[in-house]
Amino acid sequence: MEYTTLSNGLRLPLVGFGVFQVPDAAQCEAAVLTALENGYRLIDTAENYLNEEAVGSAVKKSGLPRSEVFITTKLWIDHYGEQKSVDAVHRALERMGTDYIDLILLHQSLGDYYSAWRGLTRLYREGVVKAIGVSNFYPERLTDLCMHAAIRPMVNQIECHPYFQRQTDLECAQHFGVQLEAWGPFAEGGRGIFTDPVLTKIAAAHGKSTAQVMLRWAVQRRVIVLPKSVHADRIKVNIDIFDFALTDAEMQQIAALDTGHTEIIDHLNWHTTEFLNNIKGRQD
Ligand code: NAP
Repeated sequence: MEYTTLSNGLRLPLVGFGVFQVPDAAQCEAAVLTALENGYRLIDTAENYLNEEAVGSAVKKSGLPRSEVFITTKLWIDHYGEQKSVDAVHRALERMGTDYIDLILLHQSLGDYYSAWRGLTRLYREGVVKAIGVSNFYPERLTDLCMHAAIRPMVNQIECHPYFQRQTDLECAQHFGVQLEAWGPFAEGGRGIFTDPVLTKIAAAHGKSTAQVMLRWAVQRRVIVLPKSVHADRIKVNIDIFDFALTDAEMQQIAALDTGHTEIIDHLNWHTTEFLNNIKGRQD
């Protein structure tokens, strides 16, 4: 495993494990346990994934000391507000059966996120959360928040993969000392990315899979990746990326695959804004 250090000194593995779209508790718990057994130490959930309980339970069952596992969760928009966000984080702690969260993110750059940010800042100062960050913040919103916040976000988690590379987002994040995390590192399998000819050729040259090449490419850009899988063989393969390196020429060939637009969700479309604002966060 390779690590990166956040602006507050916290060390994070560059490969984590995502559990979006795994609402079944038994399946989620089994997947997280398999991940932990295979060396993953960063688990990425959210209140809206409906599996924080399963994540908490898997961490306990793994037998690993709590301090060795880095848990991220995210707050939904309707829990934004200074006190509301504090209360929502306490509910998440209860669901996960833990007394602190390693990283809490504002899931979307919508609603009253400035108040929510003040709430997270309070929790950070109290030590209830070890790091605070945001998700789906495009550069202009990230810049604005960084310029007005008492404490800057330590992380921004965004869609990022070879077809949507977010170079400007990366430069903006680096400018403000924010670590980028890539969600959807495989574009959720969209547009035939697993059989892309450029990625396939590079993978063959290293005796690796296209999935491993995509993850390795991100890690070489110093972007944290959060691949999701419910299959043990894929969970194992997705962390086995530290025994090879892409050459500069290969990094450039992958850079040329960027389309500059999302494969999954267009946050800059007002229909998306309406859609996301209509989703309710967990009430329990
Ligand atoms: P993803 O990781 O890009 O893709 C997951 C898909 O790839 C699944 O269908 C999985 O299938 C398949 N897969 C995984 N490993 C594979 C391999 N080695 N070979 C072939 N197929 C493979 O998509 P994602 O789950 O959307 O993103 C990853 C994580 O990012 C999420 O789980 C979540 O934690 C986070 N996320 C955050 C946001 C946000 O708004 N902040 C949004 C989306 C995701 P199987 O499971 O069947 O193996």
